[in-house]
Amino acid sequence: MKKYAFLLALVFVIPLCLVGCGQEVKLSSYNIVCEYDENTHTLKAEQTVCYVNNSDNTLNEVCFFLYPNSFKEVAVSNAYLERAYPNGESFGEIDIESIKIGETSAEFEIENDAILTISLLNSLFPNESIEIDISYVVTLANINHRLGYGENTINFGNFYPILCVYDNGFIKNSFASNGDPFYSEIANYNVEITYSSSFTLASSGDILDSQTTNSKTTTKIVGEKIRDFCFVLSDKFEVISSDIYGVKVNYYYYDDENAEDYLTLSCEVIEEFSSLFGDYPYKNINVVKTNFCFGGMEYPNLVYISDKISDAETYRYVIVHELAHQWWYSLVGNNEYEEAWLDESLTEYSTALFFERHDYGLNYDEIINGAYNTYSMFVDVYTNITGDCDESMNRNLSEFQTEPEYVNCVYTKGVLMYDSLRKTLGDNKFFKCLQDYFEEYCYKNASGAKLIDSFSKSSHRNLEGFINSWLDGNVVIGD
Ligand SMILES: [Zn+2]
Repeated sequence: MKKYAFLLALVFVIPLCLVGCGQEVKLSSYNIVCEYDENTHTLKAEQTVCYVNNSDNTLNEVCFFLYPNSFKEVAVSNAYLERAYPNGESFGEIDIESIKIGETSAEFEIENDAILTISLLNSLFPNESIEIDISYVVTLANINHRLGYGENTINFGNFYPILCVYDNGFIKNSFASNGDPFYSEIANYNVEITYSSSFTLASSGDILDSQTTNSKTTTKIVGEKIRDFCFVLSDKFEVISSDIYGVKVNYYYYDDENAEDYLTLSCEVIEEFSSLFGDYPYKNINVVKTNFCFGGMEYPNLVYISDKISDAETYRYVIVHELAHQWWYSLVGNNEYEEAWLDESLTEYSTALFFERHDYGLNYDEIINGAYNTYSMFVDVYTNITGDCDESMNRNLSEFQTEPEYVNCVYTKGVLMYDSLRKTLGDNKFFKCLQDYFEEYCYKNASGAKLIDSFSKSSHRNLEGFINSWLDGNVVIGD
């Protein structure tokens, strides 16, 4: 996601199986059939999940993350209230109607509104799989957010129960108003969405077929080897497309004089990052203008760009940032709740790399100098106000006390860390580190420790002390 720091803005205003180590890992799959009713703002869905136990442990339960319930209360910090809720407070949720395993109803419980735990009828042994049927209704809030309906678009980010990652236990993330509290595995998706024919749909995956009868359209979509699935509906969308090395780049927009320019930019970004880090392996990428209270948001094959951004320079910056997430989040995954810095720092630094190579009036040195100035000011102001400033990057989302603290420590400082590492290693080694890390963890989940190991191997330098001193907040950053 791209956020703006309100207190201290950045200068610019702010194949079906995975093969690893010779071992095949079967992917879990989601089959979702759903229908959106724009009058009641509800999505009714039948979801079948084929869950594969890829662990060495025998499981007696399976857990899912229920993000839609984060809208049961005000979902943003005070600074974003007006942008998020232009018509006043509004609430949404997910109502689990039934869960079945085969023909039998399964017992389940919901913890803190966030975690759905389903008790299995029989133990699930390693390498076995199980089919779980979940019926649910999602009620959308009137909110300009990942999930919700607004004036221009209806956003379906994180709308369905998604499997928690299993790592010697299911990882149970919490909701957070700062950052993206998500963590998931690569999976296969088949999704069928029915909606009023007045809408145009943008989605993750590849559209197979669309049929319209009686003013309703049903679209079938397949998403292979993707980490999440998202779609957006709008009766205002226009769409323009271009092709870059076999990837179809689509820009969905409304009220936009610069649409062609943004499409060209998006093509340049896909081409540049494919060349710098490794190929973008999917057929489609959708850049989608949405009513969204932050700058933008990333999903596999689809990014939101906020229609609240009024100047072209910031709009371009956010397009580059969100598309960089296709490499750092979508293909190389991580626990974004526990280690937000991992994908956000690399994404923000990748954005600087793009502008270093393409002349859009923002040069690399200006970005780095701007980040130094912004970060130094943040430390000064915080130290003045609180007498101390926690500069650590490696905190979970709930451990950041304020929005500026989160943005400065994760995004701004992250840019400085990678700039410093690049100057230390030299360009050849630095870019080899990025390419090797991408290749090693593409379609997998990385972690901070794995990044340090990978970079150390690639650079033939022990980078543990170097990187940890940035993460722990021990590096002193001057003006
Ligand atoms: Zn981001």
